[in-house]
Amino acid sequence: MLDADFFHRWMAATAASVDREAERLTALDSPIGDADHGTNMQRGFRAVTASLEKEAPQTPGEILTLAGRQLISTVGGASGPLYGTLLRRTGKALGDAAEVSPEQLAEALGAGVDGVMALGGAAPGDKTMIDALVPAVDALGEGFVAARAAADEGAEATIPLQARKGRASYLGERSIGHQDPGATSSALLIAALVEAAGE
Ligand code: ADP
Ligand code: MG
Repeated sequence: MLDADFFHRWMAATAASVDREAERLTALDSPIGDADHGTNMQRGFRAVTASLEKEAPQTPGEILTLAGRQLISTVGGASGPLYGTLLRRTGKALGDAAEVSPEQLAEALGAGVDGVMALGGAAPGDKTMIDALVPAVDALGEGFVAARAAADEGAEATIPLQARKGRASYLGERSIGHQDPGATSSALLIAALVEAAGE
C-alpha cells in the first residue's frame, strides 16, 4: 500500500529532479516555445515543497490536492493549470483514504490525465505532456518501472510530431524535430514514482 510518506517522497523526488533538469527543460522550450518551462516547473515545485512542509497534509489525497493548488497559483505558463489539474484531480479521486493501492493510484492518475485533456483539449499525438502521461498511465498496471519506461518513450516519440496544441503549435511544421518540454517534465514526474517506491 502507498501511504502519505510515499506521496511526500513522490513530490520531493519530483521537485529535486525538476531542479536538476530545469536548464534542460528550458532549453527544450527554446526552439518551440518561450524558454521558460524549466523556470516555470522549478517555481511551481518549490512552492509545492514549501507548502507541503508548512501544512503537512496527512493523506495521499490531501497531499496531491495541495500540490495541485500550489502549481495553479504559482505557475504563470500553460503548464501550471495543466499540472495543477493533473495533481488536484488525482488527489480528489484518491479521496480521504490513509493508504491507497497501486491500482487505485493508477485509476486516480487516469482521472487526472482525463482532467488535463478536458482542460487543454489535447489528445495523444498533439505533442504535449499527454504523450508521456497517457502511455505511463496505461503501463502503471505493470508497475512504476514500466510506467517510467513508457513515459520516457512517449516523450521521445514527440520529436517527429507536429504540435497541435499550446505555444509550439504556432510554429506549424517548424515544431517537427524537437522533443516537447512538457512531455519531458511529465516523464520526470513519473520517474519520481520509482524513486518514491525505492525501486
Ligand atoms: P507556456 O507554453 O505557457 O510557456 P510552459 O512552457 O511551462 O508554458 O509549458 C509548455 C508545455 O505545456 C508544452 O511543452 C506542452 O507539453 C504543455 N501544453 C501546452 N498546451 C497544452 C495543452 N493544451 N494540453 C496539454 N499540454 C499542453
Ligand atoms: Mg514556455
